[in-house]
This record gives sequence, structure tokens and C-alpha cells, in this order.
Amino acid sequence: MNRIEEEKREVEIWQRTDLKREMSSEDMQKIVKSGITRCSKDSGCLSRKISGEDACLCIRSLFPSEEHYGLYLEMRGWYLTQLAEKVAIATIGEKDD
Ligand SMILES: [Zn+2]
Repeated sequence: MNRIEEEKREVEIWQRTDLKREMSSEDMQKIVKSGITRCSKDSGCLSRKISGEDACLCIRSLFPSEEHYGLYLEMRGWYLTQLAEKVAIATIGEKDD
């Protein structure tokens, strides 16, 4: 099997895997707080070229399945909103009426 076929097969398996496959909630929490670093366009990541940035090996090595990754994106969005609210309140101060 060549590298491209192998890559496609791995992505397929990753996408078919569901949340039943374990990722500890601590790991998830950590990653939601810290965020993830994607490989850049110019990193020469072959996986990214074949599978795109949302399914490349860098993402797949962090999340056991695509569903976990989706969950992360949701939680990360929520987390950033909460954070922005806190910062806004700290900066502007709470309304004193
Ligand atoms: Zn990558």
C-alpha cells in the first residue's frame, strides 16, 4: 500500500470511530483550555495535503475519532466565549445600577 492509500484508510477508520472509544475527560479538559496547534500550510505535512487540515495526522494524533474532534471544537468555542465574558467583565466592570 502506498502512503496516500494508507493515509486515506486511516482517515476512514478515524471518521468511523465513535465516542465509545475512550478519551479521558481530563485530557479533553486540558486540550480545551490550551487549544491545539495545527500544522501550518508550509509545514510540508503530507497528511494535511492528502486529508486536509481537519483530518490530518496532527489532529488525528490528538483525538481518537472525528467525533471527539467535533466535541472539542464545540467546547473550545464555548470556553472562549466564557473567557471573553470574564475578561470583558474584569475590564469594563459590572454594571452598578
Ligand atoms: Zn498535519
